[in-house]
Amino acid sequence: MRAIVLHGGLSIRRELQEHVEIYAQKAIEMDTALEAVVEAVRLMEDDPLYNAGTGSNMRFDGSIQMDAAVMIPGDFGAVINIEHVRNPVLVARDVMLHSPHLILSGDGAVSFARMRGYEYYDPTTERAREKREKTIKKLKMGEISQYYHPEFFRELLGDTVGAVAFFEGEIAAAVSTGGTSLTLRGRVGDSPIPGAGIFAGDKGAVVATGIGEEIIRRMLSLSIYSRIGDDSLEKICEEEIRKFGDIPVGVIAITSEERCARSNMVMPHAIVTRD
Ligand code: ASP
Repeated sequence: MRAIVLHGGLSIRRELQEHVEIYAQKAIEMDTALEAVVEAVRLMEDDPLYNAGTGSNMRFDGSIQMDAAVMIPGDFGAVINIEHVRNPVLVARDVMLHSPHLILSGDGAVSFARMRGYEYYDPTTERAREKREKTIKKLKMGEISQYYHPEFFRELLGDTVGAVAFFEGEIAAAVSTGGTSLTLRGRVGDSPIPGAGIFAGDKGAVVATGIGEEIIRRMLSLSIYSRIGDDSLEKICEEEIRKFGDIPVGVIAITSEERCARSNMVMPHAIVTRD
């Protein structure tokens, strides 16, 4: 039995739902759970509609820094604030499989990517540029009085991507994001932090999306993972999401028996299973 769950971040854009369904069907054809989650995230990174890889959000200063991670039971790989690569998730996978480290950041992550043969790539899109300009204008006009106000974050979030899979006993998770927009250069969200935006172990896998700062504070993915088996996966996810109140958040999770996608805002997602 194999199953995969994908999410396309917190977003009401209908195209994202359609695309995520197509990518889930493609990813389930891969040979292993790790290959499946990496392929699912790679496809979404290459799709400019998502805030990951091409289409990533910009920082205040106009730069694009991306985070990505992969996790399997007992191993982990991540890149933090990587720039000028097309597929951060492939570099994160290589950190796990082909380096002695688990996490590489900034310039070091870029150098490692070049060493592995990933060429210079500019992930900037017109949409990301417009989003940054629009938000700066709103800030200047005082429309958003407090940067960390949930209302403000609601506008900045979205379209981050993630996947969890269970393939014949194998478990894997992957995530990729351009971060919330706008943030300071150097900001790190939950996505590449094990236990926060991603967790995978023998019992299952969890990936989160939403306001990274809040997800880290609550170690959301680990909180859900550590409760697996105590209740139904749906109930656990729902209860953990409820703790966020109106702070935007979503999760996807998988075990050998169950799979779910839960959020307190619209979250495009797809669940595909095969016997
Ligand atoms: N969680 C991501 C971050 O804070 C953003 C998102 O999920 O949309 O970087």
